[in-house]
Amino acid sequence: MKSDIQICREAALTPIDQIALNAGIEPQDLTPQGTLKAKVKPSILNRLADTPDGKQILVTAITPTPLGEGKTVTSIGLAQGLAKIGENVMACIRQPSMGPVFGVKGGAAGGGYSQVAPMEKLNLHLTGDIHAVTAAHNLASAAIDARIYHEERHGYDAFAEKTGLPALRIDRERIVWKRVMDHNDRALRMITVGKNEEGKTINGIEREDGFDISAASELMAILALSTDLADMRQRIGRIVVAYNHNGQPVTAEDLQVAGAMAVTMVEAIEPTLMQTLEGVPTLIHAGPFANIAHGNSSIIADRIALKLSDYTVTEGGFGSDMGFEKACNIKAQQAGRGADCAVVVATLRGVKANSGLYDLRPGQALPEAIFEPDEKALIAGFDNLKWHINNAAKYGVPVVVAINRFPQDSDAELEQLKTMISNEQFATYVDVALSEAFGKGGEGAVELANAVVKACQTPANFKPLYDLSQPLEEKLMTVAEVGYGCRGVELSELAKQQLAELKAQGHDNLAVCMAKTPLSISHDPSLKGAPSDFIVPIRELKLCAGAGFVYALCGNVMTMPGLPEKPAFMGLDIDADGNIIGLS
Ligand code: ADP
Ligand code: MG
Repeated sequence: MKSDIQICREAALTPIDQIALNAGIEPQDLTPQGTLKAKVKPSILNRLADTPDGKQILVTAITPTPLGEGKTVTSIGLAQGLAKIGENVMACIRQPSMGPVFGVKGGAAGGGYSQVAPMEKLNLHLTGDIHAVTAAHNLASAAIDARIYHEERHGYDAFAEKTGLPALRIDRERIVWKRVMDHNDRALRMITVGKNEEGKTINGIEREDGFDISAASELMAILALSTDLADMRQRIGRIVVAYNHNGQPVTAEDLQVAGAMAVTMVEAIEPTLMQTLEGVPTLIHAGPFANIAHGNSSIIADRIALKLSDYTVTEGGFGSDMGFEKACNIKAQQAGRGADCAVVVATLRGVKANSGLYDLRPGQALPEAIFEPDEKALIAGFDNLKWHINNAAKYGVPVVVAINRFPQDSDAELEQLKTMISNEQFATYVDVALSEAFGKGGEGAVELANAVVKACQTPANFKPLYDLSQPLEEKLMTVAEVGYGCRGVELSELAKQQLAELKAQGHDNLAVCMAKTPLSISHDPSLKGAPSDFIVPIRELKLCAGAGFVYALCGNVMTMPGLPEKPAFMGLDIDADGNIIGLS
């Protein structure tokens, strides 16, 4: 089969202004960026205010291998399948981060005959939204260090007198706003800034700092959760960047940098319109990861798609314990609406990888044997798929399992998995369909599209797991116990102290955003299948007042990834005509 980029390059694409017109986006709503991508103005929503919403389909998955089990392929394929059977459909996905593109996983534009095109534009830079988030984030970082420098150099009172600004008296030991960059660079996790020659302060005040990947920035979460420009501006102002010597929060508003940050992101708040290989309009917006952030594309993009189409297909990152949980408990509560149907993507390799019968090492290729028929492994790993089906059903939505076919998969084994699902008794609506969207495009997803249309006729009774009014500790326990099925949670001394402080500062009504490994339902990547006898350790809590959640770090999760021994960038090159080689 041809490579992803070859397939993409050979596709006959439609000019983006035509795609927009077909979708009901008028020229005044659109700012074309070349001929194949365009920014869509959120003000389109004013014009569409009285149009009823279509159905929202949220694509999730079993516990994935590090390579991913094909949610994006299935989302794009399903959108193309729905178009094939004559439905009016749009897709909404996140912008890929260059960390994974150059690191382990590769691109995130889908694959085979189910891609967003041009895939090289989507995977690299696109319209610069991630750069805008990075620039706005680092502006606040620079503002913090500059303010400390000037206040401490003059002395607080002299500073206030000279500038007419209040002295913020930032405690350099309690700065909670790091720097960010859109690469996997473990060497930047812990750094020292403001280093000087002996006795000098010209380079600022020396302190410990560090970088996160841009996808983990609170600003990225804000971009995805904001409902309009005014809301984004307010949220940015609420970001707590540090605490002062009295333990009081210092916000981006206090630093008077929130306005400039919002200005930096003024184009980023507009989703980017692209198309699938078969011309389905697709909105690309925001890029939070689902392990270290909330893992979903934006509320604005969803709202536009829901108004313009009868079916909006979107994806929450990693398994249903990750992006799907956060889509339901964080995003849906802020958007005021949840999904109408969940699609759980399963693969033969993914089910078998959950059997515990293979030696799977982080950063290593999957063993060839995982693609050979193996009934024992399929049965042993099935618990994981069952867990994810039941988990999605907990949120009150009908569930369709999409078996994503890989080229090596045998008909017999695919049929066996399908039968295993059909033979299972589930308490709620569950259907199953084979998806051959990778190899055949929309044609290969017709069975899935029909199953989804049928599921959407079942009245959805979406409900999140917790109510925002519950105390923070109760919400943490609910996600861990009901959302993961653990025995309990254990807060570190630091986390207990932070919890008390957060409550005292009036943040008890925020949502909780768990940062944990995606490679297990638990916090421990080595626990495969459907573990239940585990206790979730919460190492640290972090306030994200602008995003509207408290971030809980579980286990050893890293907010700045590293590169593996053989990173994906080694396969990338460009020829003399400017054609990119090796992007997948
Ligand atoms: P997810 O969104 O769940 O992380 P992706 O859709 O990005 O997963 O797929 C992960 C990788 O696997 C991509 O490189 C994709 O092209 C590839 N892939 C997904 N489904 C198939 C398939 N059916 N056949 C071959 N490759 C696939
Ligand atoms: Mg994906």
